[in-house]
Amino acid sequence: MNERTTITIPLAEVRSTMKARTALQGTLKGSARGTPKGRQVDPQARADIAALLGASKFGVEIRRDLLIEYLHLIQDKFGALSAAHINALAEAMKLAQAEVYEVATFYHHFDVLKEGEEMPAALTVRVCDTLSCAMAGAHELLDRLPAMLGKDVRVLAVPCIGRCSDAPAVCVGQNAFGDGTVESIIHAVKVKQISGVPGIYASLAAYRAEFGYQTYQDVVCGKRDADATIKEMEDSGLRGLGGAGFSTGRKWRIVRTGAAPRLLVVNIDEGEPGTFKDRYYLERDPHRFLEGMLIAAYLVGIDAIYIYLRDEYHHCRAILETELAVLKADPPGGKMLPHIELRRGAGAYICGEESAMIESIEGKRGMPRLRPPYVAQVGLFDRPTLEHNFETLFWVRDILEKGAAWFSSHGMNGRKGLRSFSVSGRVNNPGVKLAPAGITVNQLIKQFCGGMREGHRFYAYLPGGASGGILPASMGDIPLDFDTLQPYGCFIGSAGIVILSEQDKARDAALNLMKFFEHESCGQCTPCRVGTEKAVQLLAEKKWKTSLLEELSQVMVDASICGLGQAAPNPIRCVIKHFAHEIS
Ligand code: SF4
Repeated sequence: MNERTTITIPLAEVRSTMKARTALQGTLKGSARGTPKGRQVDPQARADIAALLGASKFGVEIRRDLLIEYLHLIQDKFGALSAAHINALAEAMKLAQAEVYEVATFYHHFDVLKEGEEMPAALTVRVCDTLSCAMAGAHELLDRLPAMLGKDVRVLAVPCIGRCSDAPAVCVGQNAFGDGTVESIIHAVKVKQISGVPGIYASLAAYRAEFGYQTYQDVVCGKRDADATIKEMEDSGLRGLGGAGFSTGRKWRIVRTGAAPRLLVVNIDEGEPGTFKDRYYLERDPHRFLEGMLIAAYLVGIDAIYIYLRDEYHHCRAILETELAVLKADPPGGKMLPHIELRRGAGAYICGEESAMIESIEGKRGMPRLRPPYVAQVGLFDRPTLEHNFETLFWVRDILEKGAAWFSSHGMNGRKGLRSFSVSGRVNNPGVKLAPAGITVNQLIKQFCGGMREGHRFYAYLPGGASGGILPASMGDIPLDFDTLQPYGCFIGSAGIVILSEQDKARDAALNLMKFFEHESCGQCTPCRVGTEKAVQLLAEKKWKTSLLEELSQVMVDASICGLGQAAPNPIRCVIKHFAHEIS
């Protein structure tokens, strides 16, 4: 499928290199080496690393799993990762330099400088150009900004930053905001701060005033029976809201039978284009999530909790750091909390996949693992691991307080429960819409989003973010829920709904999404790494080669290791099936 690249090295060059190596070996033979083997560590860089690691919030012990945190420390302090600092970090961690380098270069947010390369500009403006933002004019911004901001500001096109309802979304430094215009971005660059991020959320005191952490205390003191509480969760029908949809209560039962120590990993990587519900709830009510997390941890017998938060949610990190500190200082009922660590992603969509996230928390490249074994049996640090999406835990308190029947009594069109739909695109009121499971997109647009925007007629929709496929408006009466979209080659995933109008083209959307997958493929397996690249080339052609695209899609579905490569062809197949008039 891909053209083979052959690198020819002239024989004479090989011979002369070998000759030079032999001569060098001869020189070294018998003479004492003045320096240790390999690249030498710069003394200043060594001192820099020692100072940074000594002041790390994770303590003075140097841990292999904290490699990504250490890389963040260096980049935050020095603006980029130089070869000298990478070498010094490798020395401090007793790792091969190549190992540190390969991790650093895997993540998009690390600026790894080649030797002699200049530092990037002091400030970076990131403009999201994934689907909703592209539809809202991101490319015009990207065209105009470099000239207007000058050489001291770097402008980058980046994948989804989780603000699709306020497209186009922008990140100036670490400050993200929506509805980006040239004027608002120039202003943000000048003042180095932004507006638009909710600064008000329910503090610990406010949350406690509303009986917050009472359910947790009831669980801990035995007022609520553990088995009955897990049964309540099972009866509610709450399923994993990150996309996989596995029964929450059942997952608790499985992991609690695993050998101790058991670990809990919370996924707030939320990188699926079109999805922003976790950020929305975290910005407003962090303790509702934390209480659910602690209840799950107690009932499953968890020894340590790791919260993995995407790097783009800088302000959410500040909220969580603050609220975790006050909670640890004043725990509910005075009972000691399990060990909790907040970990920072570094810009890799694939780390939303549970095993890739686990690899990342272990300080490695975020490459999905082969299964079995499943993470419930052999997960983080090879321990039985309970893995949950943020929103799944967010609903635990409400379900236990109001009862399983409260949650399952919601629902439409034969489905049960509530879903948080992240709606973006051509509607009047985009945003997070808490709606009954099974609602159709027609009902969602009309009843929750104020209808289509003026001048736009409903044309197509993405029912489940980038991976969930594309359907025409004529199929707008399908109930949106787990298991209802599969017959149409789609799935709901994390319920990121993008609405297209007749001013958009499904084929353009498919190309945009495939570019995203190409950018985010971890590169571990060929069908995905090469397949996404090849698909981008084919989708850019005016007339699609449908049989070739179908063949390529089948290979990707059959032979990719993880969901990214397996689901990436969904938009292609949907366009071929439902939007043939656009591609012939
Ligand atoms: Fe990596 Fe893609 Fe293979 Fe998944 S399918 S392991 S993202 S290369």
